Amino acid sequence: MARDLAKSTLDRFRRRLDAERQRLLAVIAEIEAEQEEIRLTETSSERSPDPNTAEGGSLAFEMEKELSLARNAGDLLAQVEEALGRIGAGTYGRCIQCGKAIPVARLEALPYTRLCVGCAANHR
Ligand SMILES: [Zn+2]
Repeated sequence: MARDLAKSTLDRFRRRLDAERQRLLAVIAEIEAEQEEIRLTETSSERSPDPNTAEGGSLAFEMEKELSLARNAGDLLAQVEEALGRIGAGTYGRCIQCGKAIPVARLEALPYTRLCVGCAANHR
């Protein structure tokens, strides 16, 4: 077994991840509400945004932007939840690829990371 993180350190990361999770859930809820609003606006005018008109083009762009934001927030949320799961399972702070302990400084910067610096570099 590689070194284990102190319980107080784990608790600190759990709190940070929890806060990040709440923040992401709020962001996602907001994006979903906005999308619903855009969709309703669209339905009431009974046509899809036509990208060939300036108005339709910017609406389509707007929706695309929101969607990619939601995807990013969703990806991040999945990583945060996975990290919380690893805290629960007692594998948090260990690289999932090589099994080495991830330096606390790296966890401080990226609490939801699951790779050590070496493996993250090879990943790219
Ligand atoms: Zn590694």
